[in-house]
Amino acid sequence: MSSELVDVTIIGGGPTGLYGLFYAGMRGVSARLIDVLPELGGQLTALYPEKDVFDVGGFPKILAKDLAKALVQQATQFDADICLDERVDGLRREDDRLVLETDRGERPTRTLVIAAGKGAFKPRRIKCPGFDEFWKRGVWPHVHDPEAFRDRRVLLVGGGDSAFDWSWALRDVAESIVHIHRSDRYRAHDHTVSLVEGAAAKGEIELLTHHEVEAIHGAEHITGATICDNRTEERRELEIDDVLALIGFVPNIGPIADWGLELEGNTIRVDTRMMTNLPAVFAAGDIVTYEGKLELISTGFGEAAIAVNNAVHFANPDARVDPGHSTSSAAFRDK
Ligand SMILES: Cc1cc2nc3c(=O)[nH]c(=O)nc-3n(C[C@H](O)[C@H](O)[C@H](O)COP(=O)(O)OP(=O)(O)OC[C@H]3O[C@@H](n4cnc5c(N)ncnc54)[C@H](O)[C@@H]3O)c2cc1C
Repeated sequence: MSSELVDVTIIGGGPTGLYGLFYAGMRGVSARLIDVLPELGGQLTALYPEKDVFDVGGFPKILAKDLAKALVQQATQFDADICLDERVDGLRREDDRLVLETDRGERPTRTLVIAAGKGAFKPRRIKCPGFDEFWKRGVWPHVHDPEAFRDRRVLLVGGGDSAFDWSWALRDVAESIVHIHRSDRYRAHDHTVSLVEGAAAKGEIELLTHHEVEAIHGAEHITGATICDNRTEERRELEIDDVLALIGFVPNIGPIADWGLELEGNTIRVDTRMMTNLPAVFAAGDIVTYEGKLELISTGFGEAAIAVNNAVHFANPDARVDPGHSTSSAAFRDK
């Protein structure tokens, strides 16, 4: 883990944090971005990757996951330290620097931009015997590497985009997939649902509506699960190796609430420079409030630009707040 002091650290890899990281790169300062999720994109990738977004400037229509991909491409064209799967828990001040305390260690920074959206996303859990016991040792909230499921018998749970995307993608990798959802209404994109239904009709996947997990069994590792039809209460025993619980995320502002920031509900009050009541700490995106605030991707972009450029000036008072125009910026001369 890199514990070098950087000029700007951004908490949150959603659209606001990614756009902020781009600005930090354009300004030529050292930057770090930390997100608790294993993938960049924030709500765009975690909550609605297959939905079309119609109100982002320059894109009459763009899939949320494609917007996230373009933002990542723009944000990562400059050197930056990107720390995924890492949750920021604490913040303390040490002389002229801030120190972020994370579940992986300490990250020092001159300034901080909090772009934490609705807070850290925690995977939703199912309340049933065995679920917590096998958490991350057989019960998985994400797919990091599809190869981890090669020739495995998988019970996949969920009715959203992530569940259907992975059901489709893993059908040729896993030995078997039983995909269950608690109702017959899916939140996933119609096209992916039809692909999975087609695979189910060919016997490549078993797709069951109105089914829930009742228990997960095993000792050293998972050996089986009991699923239940919630209409008939009929139970069925499955022999499985893994449970993929792709049932969404719950955001939680969590420890950020204890850092001494001026809060309004679950949002942080900022001034017109996007500065919080704590020196060197800025914030932008869904997590902030001010008179007239709108929780939109486009407002997050503008706030990120204001927050990061003011942070750059705070870290180095000789640097101007105004970044100038990208059209004539030296940062792009060789690009
Ligand atoms: C279904 C749906 C549809 C939407 N449609 C639109 C639309 O059409 N147009 C529009 O403009 N907006 C839309 N929105 C809203 C838009 O997605 C949000 O305004 C936007 O994602 C906010 O971006 P953000 O970067 O501020 O926060 P987020 O996207 O929430 O990203 C914040 C990131 O911070 C991370 N994080 C938080 N706390 C910590 C911590 N302590 N440690 C490490 N990481 C942390 C989180 O894991 C997350 O990845 C929609 C939202 C939803 C749910």
